[in-house]
Amino acid sequence: MRLSRYFLPVLKETPSEAQIVSHRYMLRAGMIKQNAAGIYSWLPLGFKVLRKLENIVHEEQMRAGHIPMLMPTLQSADLWKESGRYDAYGPEMLRIKDRQDRDMLYGPTNEEMITDIFRSHVGSYKDLPMTLYHIQWKFRDEMRPRFGVMRGREFFMKDGYNFDLTKEDALHAYNRHLVSYLRTYERMGLQAIPMRADSGPIGGDDTHEFLVLAETGESEVFYDSAVTDLRFGDREIDYDSHEECAGVMQEFTTKYARTDETHDEALFNEVPEERRRVARGIEVGQIFYFGTKYSEAMGATVQGPDGKVVPVHMGSHGIGVSRLLGAIIEASHDDKGIIWPEGVTPFHCGIVNLKQGDEEADAACEALYDSLTALGLDPLYDDRKERAGGKFATMDLIGLPWRITVGPRGLKNGVVELTSRRTGESEEMPPEQAIEKIA
Ligand code: ATP
Ligand code: MG
Ligand code: MG
Ligand code: MG
Repeated sequence: MRLSRYFLPVLKETPSEAQIVSHRYMLRAGMIKQNAAGIYSWLPLGFKVLRKLENIVHEEQMRAGHIPMLMPTLQSADLWKESGRYDAYGPEMLRIKDRQDRDMLYGPTNEEMITDIFRSHVGSYKDLPMTLYHIQWKFRDEMRPRFGVMRGREFFMKDGYNFDLTKEDALHAYNRHLVSYLRTYERMGLQAIPMRADSGPIGGDDTHEFLVLAETGESEVFYDSAVTDLRFGDREIDYDSHEECAGVMQEFTTKYARTDETHDEALFNEVPEERRRVARGIEVGQIFYFGTKYSEAMGATVQGPDGKVVPVHMGSHGIGVSRLLGAIIEASHDDKGIIWPEGVTPFHCGIVNLKQGDEEADAACEALYDSLTALGLDPLYDDRKERAGGKFATMDLIGLPWRITVGPRGLKNGVVELTSRRTGESEEMPPEQAIEKIA
């Protein structure tokens, strides 16, 4: 992409409404624009990162054997009246009437709809296990929308639902989701720690939240610092193996890590004192086993191998895709701007032409641009007639991992400058070598 032809409305001033760094940088880097409290347009740069996160989520869900689909944002209230949640959900649900005076709502989540789809089409245990998911906009009329996309009212969420014959199978689905989530967050360059959380009115203790540690997080968390040493890494896993998935679950959830809702002071005190941590975290996902709550209320049953008709065991599993943008920036930035992890960066590198209009410099930039593009990389070429200082500031703000700086002086010696956004280190080298380093 050539910057002269792109739409990147960078702000010079820090917007006063933004209280935390991710919100400030997302506004300043021209990634989002607020339309109403907690409702945003995703401008091209923000949209590009959102799509990258969405793709990672899809890839990891499909790798785990989960099936993508798409349900609508607007729902009829009927199913919610059937499950009993239409009244229970309260003012967080945006209720709408259509022209026929029918009760509609903008979905805050999809348990009812997916259960209805399931009961309409599945009747035998032979179709199980099954996990369906979608990535779709949700609406929750939050009391205090704030921090930009971190607590929006309209937000983008992956929600998946497993249907299983037995509790044991459903707990395997739960473990499988935990593994797939660990992989997902690590690919985004994030450490998200599974912590035992509160299951709320649903009951039982089979729920974990995934938290990214950050001072600006809204949750208070208590953990054994040893959990921060755990990495899933690139190990191979058989998602169908109950033992393997249970092993990972065991490894990642045995050490003390809880949100304030389930925090147990006595248990916490058993952690060696020098490893006890009290901190704040951002909830970027949650997994849930809730048994037959919805299947019983809504008649989602299958015929088992013995001919008996039984309600299916279910769970639901969510990732806050749009919130993740904020969480990644909270975890990865400096005082000049964002520092994107390689896996989610909107462009692979920036090309800064120090003297736009200089024949040699222009030609060298074009050649770099073509070579990088031919390699399947996605460069952002700042080809505007601007001062070098302004170009550098924009590149630092939008946080691409690499910057190649091209100017007449370097070209005389056959070199360009390659700068790492993360370390700030610069090195002069021939253009071909810079390409090699990035690729
Ligand atoms: P929170 O405790 O932050 O209100 P939640 O527990 O109500 O979140 P879930 O129902 O578990 O949310 O939804 C799954 C995921 O969706 C959350 O883990 C979070 O990452 C994301 N999410 C929830 N509410 C919002 C919101 N208002 N804005 C952006 N993302 C959200
Ligand atoms: Mg909430
Ligand atoms: Mg929560
Ligand atoms: Mg939650």
